[in-house]
Amino acid sequence: MSTRKPFNSFDMAQEQFDHVAGLLGLDRATIDLLRWPLREYSFAIPVRLDDGTTRVFRGFRVQHNDARGPSKGGIRFHPAETMDTVRALAMWMTWKCAVVDIPLGGAKGGVICDPHDLSQREQERLCRGYVRQIAKNVGPVTDVPAPDVMTSAQHMLWMLDEFETVHGGKAPGFITGKPVGMGGSLGRKEATGYGVVFAIRGALKELELRPQDTRASVQGFGNVAQHAIELYQQIGGTVVAVSCWDQQDQTAYTFRKLPGVDLAELRAITDRFGGIDREKARDCGYDVLPGDQWLEQEVEILLPAALEHQITADNIERVRPTVRIIAEGANGPTGPIADQVLKERGVFMIPDLLANAGGVTCSYFEQVQNNMNYYWEKDEVLGKLDRKMTAAFLAVSELARKENLYMRDAAYVIAVSRVAEACRERGWI
Ligand code: GLU
Repeated sequence: MSTRKPFNSFDMAQEQFDHVAGLLGLDRATIDLLRWPLREYSFAIPVRLDDGTTRVFRGFRVQHNDARGPSKGGIRFHPAETMDTVRALAMWMTWKCAVVDIPLGGAKGGVICDPHDLSQREQERLCRGYVRQIAKNVGPVTDVPAPDVMTSAQHMLWMLDEFETVHGGKAPGFITGKPVGMGGSLGRKEATGYGVVFAIRGALKELELRPQDTRASVQGFGNVAQHAIELYQQIGGTVVAVSCWDQQDQTAYTFRKLPGVDLAELRAITDRFGGIDREKARDCGYDVLPGDQWLEQEVEILLPAALEHQITADNIERVRPTVRIIAEGANGPTGPIADQVLKERGVFMIPDLLANAGGVTCSYFEQVQNNMNYYWEKDEVLGKLDRKMTAAFLAVSELARKENLYMRDAAYVIAVSRVAEACRERGWI
């Protein structure tokens, strides 16, 4: 019997914070304030199903910190959601908004459910029920939700509509990631994945590597992964493997094609949750390998863009010595022991709070456009996103070089000091 404690994302988030608190020499009160969320909500959501019966779902919303501005973060639909996962993700949002220097705090929400098993109408009722339970505690100037794992622009619009019904009047800035034309921003769909590649581009430059001389292996084929692959291929990179769920048996497989995968071809055989049809993939000439084999491909770049805790003590030895860069498209994909190994190996880590900050940065642009009620062209949005991501990347890599810090530590030092300073300036501590 294993005596190892089961993995807990919030333990990991607190450990990461404690490490940086030590580096920064933070005082007790600041540590006590930032180690835990400011506020958290756990609630029941009764939903009438299409067959007339009622099912009660559990929902969470955690507001970790709002010293720098309204708290911000997505809502996930996932069968394995827990309060602790949401706490960790909320804390990571606080650091993420701070590292890219946008005037927002951190929050996260979740519902224990599997949307694969729910019809569109049931999902609509679930979204509306979620908002009814939390409507008094969120809003454009307090806490602003967004899409995340298995939630989309359509879910955001249902949530907005319910919020506006409860409060009366239009409030498009209540939620981001809305459909374009309904208060959404052009470029929001692409933003997280493109942001990952803006950061990869910075890392390649530092390592004096040309994109066309690099290969990547990707975990996940949802919104983040698909857009990261799109831009990485556009700048000349080759993606040799993608790992994701099969539509039928809900098991992960690695789909490999040499010299590289064809994005349009894969998209054509993928459902809206990023699940691939493995029989069709075989017909298109892909090797269908076990799900975790994305990790042991001979590539220069690993791009985990699925869920937390994927590169761990159990599989880290399978990462090839060819790997120079890890870009964390997902939140928390690397466990602490694996992270230590990568640090010692000198792998260029682009940590989650920096790598995937493009999504929330574009959400911020969406809110700005909502407030003005004037909408920018796509080029303008993506240009602003590129500048913000590049500036954040350079600030982190410069500190890492100057202080001889691991990139994750450098990103945390910048983010945590900004949040601690905001708390101090407000007189909270
Ligand atoms: N869910 C995304 C994240 O983890 C985006 C959050 C947002 O846009 O508020 O960063």
